[in-house]
Amino acid sequence: MSETVIQQVEAALEAWAEGLHSIAPHAGSAWERLVGEVLEPRAGRRTERQECPSPLRDPVETRNAHADELADAAESWGRSGKRAGLLKTLAEWWLETFGEQDAAIPRDVRPEAVERLEGMRGLSPELAARIQLRALEMAVWPVTRAAQRICFRHGWLDPSADYDEWQSYFIRGSSGDADRLRALFDALQRIGQKFCGARPRCEDCPLQPLLRNGQPLDLNAE
Ligand code: SF4
Repeated sequence: MSETVIQQVEAALEAWAEGLHSIAPHAGSAWERLVGEVLEPRAGRRTERQECPSPLRDPVETRNAHADELADAAESWGRSGKRAGLLKTLAEWWLETFGEQDAAIPRDVRPEAVERLEGMRGLSPELAARIQLRALEMAVWPVTRAAQRICFRHGWLDPSADYDEWQSYFIRGSSGDADRLRALFDALQRIGQKFCGARPRCEDCPLQPLLRNGQPLDLNAE
């Protein structure tokens, strides 16, 4: 069932001008992609095309830099510097897990490394999953507010669904293909920002044809 739904969503998004293939490219080293996930862009600033600045772009430099220096670099990049301390912790984890390789995509991500990442203080389950999906190219689904709204309003997942059910739904539905998951995740995040906020704008949304009975389900309904 979920495979069918995901295929329908992908088809609807393909037809959308800003759909799956126009989403930000999977650029930069694995570490730079991690940094991009951790440091949130400031509201209204588009930073996708700017290079990740030093000392953020290399895990050794990040580990060795003072947190204030990292925060300044983040601010100069148009991002919040409030997670500079977390980045240092992540740099330690990265170097212990993968060594100093920074360009290659780590393929051998051991379960204990993932366990440490998921248990890291100050790292939400959503951010841990986004790091796995984007930086490590693992088949993991980040459960974001945008994804929840869209899935619940369409009736694809029940609000009581737990973390494992989310993983199973999306990973099974995309045949465990990390690239496919990432494209779908990026597109749904964009849909969430543009159309599916607190008040859904279904009339303009590319996923409108997939609504049951043409109407979104009420998020507040029992
Ligand atoms: S059709 Fe409506 S409920 Fe569905 S994603 Fe778009 S805005 Fe949200």
